[in-house]
Order: sequence, then C-alpha cells, then structure tokens
Amino acid sequence: MKIRVLGSSAGGGFPQWNCNCRNCDGVRRGTVAARARTESSITVTDNGEDWLLVNASPDVLAQIAANTELQPARQVRDTGIAAVVTMDAQIDHVTGLLMLRERGTPLPLYTTNAVWQDLSTGFPITSILSHYCGVEHRRIALDGASFSVPELPRVTIDALPLSSKAPPYSPHREAPEVGDNIGLMFTNSATGKRAFYAPGLGALDAHVLDAMREADLLLVDGTV
Ligand SMILES: [Zn+2]
Repeated sequence: MKIRVLGSSAGGGFPQWNCNCRNCDGVRRGTVAARARTESSITVTDNGEDWLLVNASPDVLAQIAANTELQPARQVRDTGIAAVVTMDAQIDHVTGLLMLRERGTPLPLYTTNAVWQDLSTGFPITSILSHYCGVEHRRIALDGASFSVPELPRVTIDALPLSSKAPPYSPHREAPEVGDNIGLMFTNSATGKRAFYAPGLGALDAHVLDAMREADLLLVDGTV
C-alpha cells in the first residue's frame, strides 16, 4: 500500500485567494517559511498503477498534473484514478468530480447514503455528470463491515462516522445524519500497517480516538 498526499490545506487552499493575513500574504511574497498548498486530498494504491482518489478537490487537475504517477499513459485516453471516494459533500471535497467528466466510462464513486443524497439534490453533481461520463455509485454502508476497491485488493478500508453538519446546501443541513462525514482507516493487509485519514474532524469522539490509537499513521484535521 502506498499513499500520496495530493493536498493538505483547508477549503480554499493556501494562500486563500482573497486573504492577506500574515501567512497568506507572506507565502505570496516569500517572507514566511511556508509553501503554498492545495486543498486536502490523498490517493491510495496497491500496485502503484491503480489509485483510489480520496476526495476530489477543486484543485484536482493541478494535483494530477503535479503527480505524474496518476497518469500511467497505457493508451491515448487513460488515468490512474480507478475510483473516487468522497468523505463528505463539501465543496472542497466534491467539486473536482466535475473536472473528471471526460472519462470514457462511468466514474466509480464511493459515498455514504447521506453524501449521495446531497450530491443528487442540494449540489446535484451526479445529475450533471450523467450528461458526461456518468457515475457508478458504490455505497459505503457504515454497518461496521470493511470494504475494498477491486483495483486495490490488498487495501482494506473501514469507514467511521464523524460528527459534523452537512453542507449549507444539504436538504438535511439542520438534521444531521450518520454518514454526513466519515473518517477512513486504510489497512495494508500484507503488513497490517494502518493509516487513518480524517481531513475534516469536528470532534474527537471516543471511537475516533480508538481508531487513532490503532493507526500507524495519522493524517487528520489540524484545526480540531
Ligand atoms: Zn490567510
């Protein structure tokens, strides 16, 4: 199992386009010791060629361009992105789906029911994509069972519900549902090593802390 961090900033990226705080202004001018960062997203692979994209940020095209492993160039039209999982329905994690519309086949997309509902109604990206490549929905059940992506057979994935509100455009914004936001534990079944990813983490609930203790690698929301 290999994980590549495509982006690690909060929504809007760093520097934010309209921000002149000390850090954003400083990174533009080169007066602070910091690097510009794109919005949070990782990719996970088993064989080094087929990747699961975890969140599709508005920066996804720049992220693909900066990570040439995601373009194996096996034929004229090709991508290393075998499937996508979106952990919530927030703009910074789903808008990049629109940038992947030129696929030749429906995009395999893993989401919970709550996220799928938002992406079919309040922010109807799946309806829009149906006029392009289309989406093949693969449901994340949150029933405690692990799942895996066919192209990553030795990567076991466990989804944990996280407490947070659905986006402002969600029909159930004021009535939070289990699955509005999830964390993901990736286990390398060849070595047993685990990585926990939660780029949007509102609260350190007991089951989240338990998962974090089990992980060898934590990639979590630093603002929590
Ligand atoms: Zn700023």
